[in-house]
Amino acid sequence: MKQITHMAPGAIKTVRSLLDDRAVRSVFIVADRTAYEKSGAKIYIESALQGRVQVIFDDFAPNPKYVDVIRGVKFWHTHPCDIMIAIGGGSAIDMAKLIGICGTHRGQYREFLTGEIPIRDKAAPLIAIPTTAGTGSEATHFAVVYVAEQKYSVAHANVLPDYAIIDPNLTANLPPSITAHTGLDALSQAVESLWSVNATAQSRGFASEALTLVLDNLEAAVHRPTPDVRANMCRAAYLSGKAINISKTTAPHAISYTLTSQFGVPHGLAVALTLGAVLIYNNGVTSGDCWHPQGVAQVQKDIRYINRLIGVASSEEARKHIDDLISAIGCPTRLRQVGVDTDADLETLVQNVNTERLKNNPRALSQFELRQILREIY
Ligand code: NAD
Repeated sequence: MKQITHMAPGAIKTVRSLLDDRAVRSVFIVADRTAYEKSGAKIYIESALQGRVQVIFDDFAPNPKYVDVIRGVKFWHTHPCDIMIAIGGGSAIDMAKLIGICGTHRGQYREFLTGEIPIRDKAAPLIAIPTTAGTGSEATHFAVVYVAEQKYSVAHANVLPDYAIIDPNLTANLPPSITAHTGLDALSQAVESLWSVNATAQSRGFASEALTLVLDNLEAAVHRPTPDVRANMCRAAYLSGKAINISKTTAPHAISYTLTSQFGVPHGLAVALTLGAVLIYNNGVTSGDCWHPQGVAQVQKDIRYINRLIGVASSEEARKHIDDLISAIGCPTRLRQVGVDTDADLETLVQNVNTERLKNNPRALSQFELRQILREIY
């Protein structure tokens, strides 16, 4: 499916003409309540919706959970509309994607979300309007949902939003901590995409530009944001989404989901916490544990390339650069700083690692090595 993208300051103003062109009479909005108001999106959307029926679903918490999705789907069934608009960070966009996928039928939603029943269609076209700069969910054909604290990635061509309206002005009022956490997601997605076993020339192109943009702009976005810096971070997030849309994510994401679901660590920070340690681990790849179809030489080449983009000569320096950046934007770099306090906590992370994402890592990672990585950053 081809996506139509508008990315520019003020891009949100294009929503009105988009709705006019499609002769839309009713709009189902999936909004993060805080983001809708604080981003300034509400003023423009309400004006664009004049004369059309509008329904708002905002009864969900960050990181979509099964129960919230079901509530949204039931709401959709009582208020079906011509089109859906998602406004917020990755949580709101994923929520809209999931409602769209489940809204095509009644019942058996759990089976749809866990992949037991194949996805066929979606209930309505989707316009994604991100208000954070990090996930790139507006550019991906998957959505994340937690079913009983277990993370599932729902993937299908129809999950990709039909329109992505990326307006950096909507991120102008993001608090520093959310700018930091979400920006770290773009950083991790770019790095992981570069070493993923599924990387292609195209995904490498997207990821390279995303990584350079994050390295050049994230610290300023947190401490000294300007319109240009915000715009660069929005582009970085979008490109990191385009990159993982092809390559998928790897070990840091595989470890992160339990950090979020069981320890309450914001998604982007949860991912970045293990990024440096996994970089060192992947750099030690051997022919005996290489998962990359192009072999050890390719993994080493990918990691040298990541080092070069970061502007350093070795993985140790790259790791230090990443950890220094995380600290410079006010975030912790150790697991015990985010509530992973005991051996039992570490074991919870080991036992619940997402094996689907782990398979995309270029170097095999057994429970033994995972435990070692986690102990090292404890
Ligand atoms: P989020 O959507 O959970 O939002 C985080 C917080 O920021 C919320 O409290 C929200 O109210 C607030 N917020 C958002 N925009 C704001 C604004 N402009 N002003 C003030 N506050 C604002 O965070 P996120 O990091 O954007 O998304 C994380 C979710 O995205 C996770 O569930 C993750 O799994 C998912 N994700 C999905 C994909 C994908 O491709 N589908 C990729 C990466 C992440």
